[in-house]
Amino acid sequence: MEIMFAAFLIIILILIFFSGDKLMPPKIISTSQVNLYRNCPRAYYLKYIIGLKSPIASPQLEFGSKIHSMISQRNFVSEDVREQEQLLRAQKFLECLPSGGIAETSYEDKNNPARFYGDISGKRAVAVFDWLWEPDDCIGLDWKTGVFHKTYSDQYEIQGYFLSELYKQKYDVPMKRLIFKFLGDDVTYEAQLLRDEKIYKKAERAIKNSLSNIEKEKFEKKCSGRCSFCDMNVFCCMDCF
Ligand code: SF4
Repeated sequence: MEIMFAAFLIIILILIFFSGDKLMPPKIISTSQVNLYRNCPRAYYLKYIIGLKSPIASPQLEFGSKIHSMISQRNFVSEDVREQEQLLRAQKFLECLPSGGIAETSYEDKNNPARFYGDISGKRAVAVFDWLWEPDDCIGLDWKTGVFHKTYSDQYEIQGYFLSELYKQKYDVPMKRLIFKFLGDDVTYEAQLLRDEKIYKKAERAIKNSLSNIEKEKFEKKCSGRCSFCDMNVFCCMDCF
């Protein structure tokens, strides 16, 4: 364990030494950054400040990217049973919403029409819809390829805060609905902050607190059940296990 910790420190020191002015928080903030910081400040530090990438591929991430990409291309057919189940759920759900709408293109596409920029807590921010409807409908949609967890509601609301704020800043009208569709269990969750001021304020406070703690360089470890599937765990000293 001591050897691993020493190796970890050496890696960090080498990265700090060679990275010059890169050791700064990202200039553009996002939901993923805030939610990762809230889950574990050390994981945020390793991923977004040091800039480490897990050498181990995540099957869940690969599956999620593939499903998102197929839906955005309106391709709802797969020979894989699990993929087909999720694609059919997405197709059926879209049929209940207004026709048309704008689908995301891809993460790499600089002109992705579903990517919105704006200002959150005085910082440049970005958020990406999976599908959206412009005014008059004012609807946003985010696919989740996992299952719904009520205990993660705060995270969904924080994501909802980013999406709804940037939508409002772009179109100058508030969103009417912001939907998280869980394709793993077919659950639909609608962001509560659009109609509940307390939840809106709670999400806003959580974002401000996280940004303030990042500025104060508070990057302590937060060991939890998440450590076993944290993609930074290969870099983190292993005393959480
Ligand atoms: S393994 Fe646990 S403590 Fe370490 S970075 Fe990941 S979540 Fe944080």
